[in-house]
Amino acid sequence: MTAPYLGVETVDNSITTRFAPSPTGLLHRGHAASAMAAWRLARAAGGRFILRIEDIDSTRCRPEFESAILADLAWLGLDWDGPVWRQSERTPVYRAALDRLIEMGLAYPCFCTRADIAAAASAPHGPEGPVYPGTCRSLDAATRACRLAAEPAAWRLDVAAALARSGPLRWHDATQGWQRVAVAEGDFVIARRDIGTAYALAVVVDDAAQGVTDVVRGQDLFTATHGQRLLQALLGLPTPRYHHHPLLLGADGRRLAKRDAGETLAALRAKGVTPAEILAST
Ligand code: GLU
Repeated sequence: MTAPYLGVETVDNSITTRFAPSPTGLLHRGHAASAMAAWRLARAAGGRFILRIEDIDSTRCRPEFESAILADLAWLGLDWDGPVWRQSERTPVYRAALDRLIEMGLAYPCFCTRADIAAAASAPHGPEGPVYPGTCRSLDAATRACRLAAEPAAWRLDVAAALARSGPLRWHDATQGWQRVAVAEGDFVIARRDIGTAYALAVVVDDAAQGVTDVVRGQDLFTATHGQRLLQALLGLPTPRYHHHPLLLGADGRRLAKRDAGETLAALRAKGVTPAEILAST
């Protein structure tokens, strides 16, 4: 049952769920709710629950937050199957997936800075901010090669070309039903210039490599699922079932964030709140 760490795990059980936190801060009650929901879904079916540390962003992730995540989950009484995967150890796997998309002619280097994109007069706004106006999509091969040799680049998926190749796609959300793929954010980044990969690519590669059948996560990632479904189709990877849950709100009505120090599991624990009380409130 144990599989090569960088390869595909052999999965016997019908359901595999995961909790995939980024160690950029302390977990709060919302994370506990999400992890608990994924854990319950797996355990109720006699399936597997795995833990994956999404630490590709070396500019923001810290080892002490990873230790705190492990301690918080243990305190909550959640157990997981198999080794903990760390995305920072899988860079070559993500690079191979990127290379495949480049070879398919569906990815292009992008030299624009955030400021360039924000300044593009016609940039329309999607749910997650400005839609990339496509500036670098039309660079000719010679300019691309020349600039690639001289400056760092991000890589973007050419969404129109990708959808033309994949044909219409859909994915299923447990509460909102079937969704037709529509990528509102435009040509999204599949490799950041600073870290060489990006969340969207790493997450689809790893969900497939770990045999994840059911993705339980917050509603904030609902929109991103469209692009992930498209990447799955292009890379020939299976599509999990999705369970996006509402985000927990703080006393001020705003969604909980890692900066809400009073709501972190560590702070609640220090105040004497018990795991049972946290789990009952999730
Ligand atoms: N690593 C992401 C986060 O902490 C979650 C990714 C996912 O569940 O797909 O927000």
